[in-house]
Amino acid sequence: MKITNIRAEVVHASVYSNYIFVIAETDQGVTGFGDATLDGLEFEVAAAINNMGEKLIGKDVLKDKISPAAGGGGLITAAAASGIDIAMWDLKGKALDVPLYQLLGGAIRTEVPVYASFNRSIRDRTPEGFGKFAAGLVAEGNKAMKCHPFDGVSWRTPLSNQRKLIDMGCERFIAMREAAGDDVEIGIDAHWRLDMNTAAYIADRIRPYRPFWFETPIPEKKPELIRELRNRCGIPIAGGEMQTGAGEILPLLQNNCMDVYMPDIRYVGGVTGMMKMSAVLETYDVLISPHNMCSVITCAASLHTAAAMKNFLHLEYHPAEAPWLRAFSDRYFDVENGCFPVPEGPGLGVNLNLDMLKEHPYEKAIPLRLNMLGA
Ligand SMILES: [Mg+2]
Repeated sequence: MKITNIRAEVVHASVYSNYIFVIAETDQGVTGFGDATLDGLEFEVAAAINNMGEKLIGKDVLKDKISPAAGGGGLITAAAASGIDIAMWDLKGKALDVPLYQLLGGAIRTEVPVYASFNRSIRDRTPEGFGKFAAGLVAEGNKAMKCHPFDGVSWRTPLSNQRKLIDMGCERFIAMREAAGDDVEIGIDAHWRLDMNTAAYIADRIRPYRPFWFETPIPEKKPELIRELRNRCGIPIAGGEMQTGAGEILPLLQNNCMDVYMPDIRYVGGVTGMMKMSAVLETYDVLISPHNMCSVITCAASLHTAAAMKNFLHLEYHPAEAPWLRAFSDRYFDVENGCFPVPEGPGLGVNLNLDMLKEHPYEKAIPLRLNMLGA
């Protein structure tokens, strides 16, 4: 089975995002799918996919080692290379007529624990609104969830000048715990917005309500500061969602900075990079909980890797942000008893509907992620 074309397809996913899908075609009429979504940089990533893809035309899906290299383009080329890698694994599975997890050594689990992350879906930002949303997720079968409650907060502002915003964030989290009950796991994500003092203050306030982790509390550039916070705050620390490979994470690992690492299959090198990352983390006895903003392709690829990982904790998912997303593919994932099933079809076990993608072309979106990184 030889590759005849690789291209990007950019589609409108919500007011916040366009998905950047990789479509890989072959001489046998079989199509492989990948996801390289990077909010706010759609055209740059699409160009990188097209450039990298051209070099792969004529390669044999099974016989040739196909490993697109990110090179020096930072997140843009990392996303493109990751998306192509996912599409190549999808094709390998389809060529052999087996689900992807079987090519990764087989499944340790066929039901993958997931948690609902709902930053974008919640409109009522009052503590009561967070509580209500949490109770609704429990009613739908969720056993774990994560909030992003620190609206308007910045690490450039001292705690004394933004205490009201900080307290409001804590109250949103506490309202979730009170509404969802004690049997549900609840995490909290600060999007790198805090300084050390503010993070320590928040940890003291939320610790009695048992967050399963405190995610990206402070910027990740200085491992020694994250380690200090981890030692101080008494809550597991999670992060690493924007890392582009196992090498990048080493300073954090060597400094004992985090309890859980959250690589994203769209940036860490696709299926290949995710499995490498899992192996490196396993040698340091830390857990992996992949970041997953959840196009159905990212989700499927993450599920197959999660099936085969020894040190896996749980997988993020985002409740659908727009009603038309379900129509993009021949299957979708809904939570049942706190889990998603690992798909059993060939390759990823999910196929995009190319006609439906055409009905939702690119629209300008509000790239929350880039705003957060600059906050
Ligand atoms: Mg996060």
